[in-house]
Amino acid sequence: GEGAQAAEVRTTCPYCGVGCGVLARRTAQGVEVRGDPEHPANFGRLCSKGSALGETVGMADRLLAPRVAGREVDWDSALDLVAGKFRAAIAEHGPDAVAFYVSGQLLTEDYYVANKLMKGFIGSANIDTNSRLCMASSVAGHRRAFGTDTVPGLYEDLEQADLVVLVGSNLAWCHPVIYQRLVAAKAARPGLKVVVVDPRRTATCDIADLHLALAPGADAVLFNLLLAHLADAGRLDVEFLKNVNGFEAALAVAREARAAEAGLAAGDLAAFLALWAGTEKVVTVYSQGINQSSSGSDKVNAITNCHLATGRIGRPGMGPFSVTGQPNAMGGREVGGLANMLACHLEIENDGHRAAMQGFWGAPVMAAKPGLKAVDMFRAVEAGQIKALWIIHTNPAVSMPDADRVAQAIAGCAFVVVSDITDRTDTARLAHVLLPATGWGEKDGTVTNSERRISRQRPFRAAPGAARADWWHLAQVAQRMGFAGFDWAGPAAIFAEYAALSGVAGDLGSDFDISDHAAIGVEGYDALQPFLWPANARQRGGRFFGDGRFHTPDGKARMLPVVPRAPQALSAAHPFRLNTGRIRDQWHTMTRTGLSPRLGQHLAEPFLELHPADAGRLGLAAADLAEVTSPQGRAVLRVLVTDRVAEGHPFAPMHWTGETAPTGRVDALVAGITDPVSGQPESKAAAVAIAPF
Ligand code: SF4
Repeated sequence: GEGAQAAEVRTTCPYCGVGCGVLARRTAQGVEVRGDPEHPANFGRLCSKGSALGETVGMADRLLAPRVAGREVDWDSALDLVAGKFRAAIAEHGPDAVAFYVSGQLLTEDYYVANKLMKGFIGSANIDTNSRLCMASSVAGHRRAFGTDTVPGLYEDLEQADLVVLVGSNLAWCHPVIYQRLVAAKAARPGLKVVVVDPRRTATCDIADLHLALAPGADAVLFNLLLAHLADAGRLDVEFLKNVNGFEAALAVAREARAAEAGLAAGDLAAFLALWAGTEKVVTVYSQGINQSSSGSDKVNAITNCHLATGRIGRPGMGPFSVTGQPNAMGGREVGGLANMLACHLEIENDGHRAAMQGFWGAPVMAAKPGLKAVDMFRAVEAGQIKALWIIHTNPAVSMPDADRVAQAIAGCAFVVVSDITDRTDTARLAHVLLPATGWGEKDGTVTNSERRISRQRPFRAAPGAARADWWHLAQVAQRMGFAGFDWAGPAAIFAEYAALSGVAGDLGSDFDISDHAAIGVEGYDALQPFLWPANARQRGGRFFGDGRFHTPDGKARMLPVVPRAPQALSAAHPFRLNTGRIRDQWHTMTRTGLSPRLGQHLAEPFLELHPADAGRLGLAAADLAEVTSPQGRAVLRVLVTDRVAEGHPFAPMHWTGETAPTGRVDALVAGITDPVSGQPESKAAAVAIAPF
């Protein structure tokens, strides 16, 4: 029974991309968790969010039955309605008149089914994910540099490096267990140097030997300066460069960078260049400060350029390293959950790849072109082009840029389905049909973390009420739309099918091949230990590209000429550049972390970090309320006066919603400006005005 003491279950944390192993069990009091000492991501550690997991699995506000127009119905009625509406929209307006907007919170098996249904059976690629807001620039940068979206290294590289450079990453708050591993490595080996590149002085700077408070958006300038310096200082790896195209062009453009544009003290810049150039074992870790930019893809390539030019990649303690935000952003990328990709690193633009996937699935109408990326998808919803929209485990009415406009677009859509564990989200309130999903502790499947390690999420209690897994919602609707190939008995069968598909991809040269799991049964799946892909990862030290072989058609890496581009311009009416991001103890839009009083104590309400000089000029004091406006929207935030931010560059966290703080929706301020290559929005550089409220 729910109250009795039960055995410990080995599972994975549902929050960030570190992907920590968790041991969880039900007790008379509730749910008890501890870090899994045997999991290779965390070796027993957990952060504040992970340790509070037991407090966030309560039944308050759970959605327990399907609802249509606010009234509870049985599953058959809800699923028949969804299938009928999607079928009718496709029949009348074509496959591109429907869309799925999914989430890095989905398990790989759920993602697999959503992607198969949309791309192979509906015949559109209109499936995109909130990973577009998080990782898309890294995906684009990886594909341009390496030929595939492949993370070269491992977490242990941060421990084995002699220099770790963190760019646009508040690792201490956003990937706390990797940060703890880095702190421990530095304590054991003080020679390990840490440099933090960030316009803000974040908590991560506590361990920095050097903090570069770079001008916002000047990351590509900095890494162009570095590339030119590497050439001048004779630090190029001439042998390795034989495996790289584009070096001369990249260097020529890099030489045009001007030090003044980086906005750094001359001594700090020189120290950074000398340290990076003079340290062979260097890892450059980057995150949303790089990705969430209108030139995020180029910034990623400016970083990889420096690693390629020096051959410092794919060997112990060396490489560019993208740390992902979400628990399964990586799994979603591998399974083809983005509008411009197919599963297993196959390409939607490649006729042979599409044909192989269609053949494997026995699919009637394979999507033939990339679908709508997140920002464009909601513009198409607004324009009335999307007649049926299914939103799964994400809250775009809060988290998308231009969030008020997105909420209005959803409200105006002819048919909206939302799958979630609660109806108390800003998006769920706009749905015609609500489908009750399972939450952490009930879900059963796999996730991939930032170092390509696939781990199981295992259930330790029964789903409440009529809640069912997301893959089941999707498979039921697919079957009711008349499609064959969606009758799995459970997630083990879906994983086995996915693994078999990866074998087809492997035959086409894809690096993502986990086909040694294609015959896995329920028992094998239940016993599955965390493992790295590819299957031969252990032989190759778990890393890619150290051997100079890349996944491009000619096997060579690509360096790109990167011309730095500034973020959107400020104006007299909107003279401040607002930076947005996470805080330590909340996750996304607080659906789960908001349930823990302990987590709420760290920072209890939406706030605005403002430099003392800005505060003085605006007549704002600590704890005053500030009204922040942009052409897109408005928020009212509590002022926190601090010199951790630069003058003119305030910061506000993005977690609060219409439910938790009606005037604290910070993404309402952010413009829907995107990177032209990756489609990722510029969430780090909104132009805003600030006034006392
Ligand atoms: Fe969970 Fe990330 Fe914290 Fe690990 S670091 S416990 S995965 S939130």
